[in-house]
Amino acid sequence: MVEDVCAWARHESPTDDAAAVDAMMDRLVAGLEGEPVGIERLPGREGLGGSVILRAGPATQREHALVLSHLDTVHPIGTLEDGLPVRVEGDRIYGPGVYDMKGGAYLALQAFLEVARKGTAKRPMVYLFTPDEEIGSPTTRALIEHLGRDAAAVLVTEPARDGGKIVTCRKGVGRFEVHVEGRPAHSGSRHAQGRNAIHEAARQIAAIEAMTDYDRGVTTTVGLIKGGTAMNTIPQHCRFAIDLRVETAADGEEFSRAILGLAPQRPDFKVTVTGGMNRPTFERTPQVAALYEAAVGLAAEIGFALEETTRTGGGSDGNFTAGLGVPTLDGLGIDGDGAHTLEEYGLVSSLGPRAMLMARLLETV
Ligand SMILES: [Zn+2]
Repeated sequence: MVEDVCAWARHESPTDDAAAVDAMMDRLVAGLEGEPVGIERLPGREGLGGSVILRAGPATQREHALVLSHLDTVHPIGTLEDGLPVRVEGDRIYGPGVYDMKGGAYLALQAFLEVARKGTAKRPMVYLFTPDEEIGSPTTRALIEHLGRDAAAVLVTEPARDGGKIVTCRKGVGRFEVHVEGRPAHSGSRHAQGRNAIHEAARQIAAIEAMTDYDRGVTTTVGLIKGGTAMNTIPQHCRFAIDLRVETAADGEEFSRAILGLAPQRPDFKVTVTGGMNRPTFERTPQVAALYEAAVGLAAEIGFALEETTRTGGGSDGNFTAGLGVPTLDGLGIDGDGAHTLEEYGLVSSLGPRAMLMARLLETV
């Protein structure tokens, strides 16, 4: 397994290089010759790579188990030569995308194939490999949701964290743009006639930042701002961006409404807000908790203690299926650390146990 994970990592596949991602999909499909799986390839769109769907297991009409992996990485072509060569050091496999998430995709594929060969799947199995998760899945979200709607459970092979923990909830993410318009004037001779858009934006930003409520798991961040044209001119325009993170769908709606409803605090200003929730909340529903408990039991049979993380701020494709109310487990991939950096590595010792866990999930959930 180690040699194959290294080979996958050596096959660089940054999201924005469609040819490289498609070649990675070719490598995946080439390795499936003679396996008892149906293969469907979907061409890429909007300049991105294509997707691969594998199907196996009993040919019934029952809801399927869906496995989700992405084969794009954040590392540009050349990372292999400059900064992150593929190598094994002790228990660590270093390489671009080993941890996020080629190691996880590879181990889950081995489990999927093993269960397909043995004919022990509990229900039909569908495995979707996508090309664009690292940029928010603009061309595959609809496909993920389409396959997710018919799923009894969704298993996502994003990396494990903090010593092998899996992910049972993720915050939802909202993004907004605000445009404040005031009235320009000479800052010396016409000060009283001006309406300073930056000043009004400052009042708005103070109100937005005050929406942050750590106990409730809600954060608002104004991380970008632009305004004004010259030092001696009262600015007519100011624009800024808001990043909203919430733990529940209800909070997503409530805070989106509050942000979209922002109104001028002083007369003679115009405030326009656009945007909304970008990734829905991945909530730890009773169904998710039950799926997690099942995984803990399976891991114990295999011989390791499985734990879950507290909420993580980042989103994944799991947010899309969890957002539909489909029981979803994430972080089922390889253990390791250093995602998106030149220190990225996966742990060899996690490959076997986690492949077994994936196989048992496909046989039982
Ligand atoms: Zn990932």
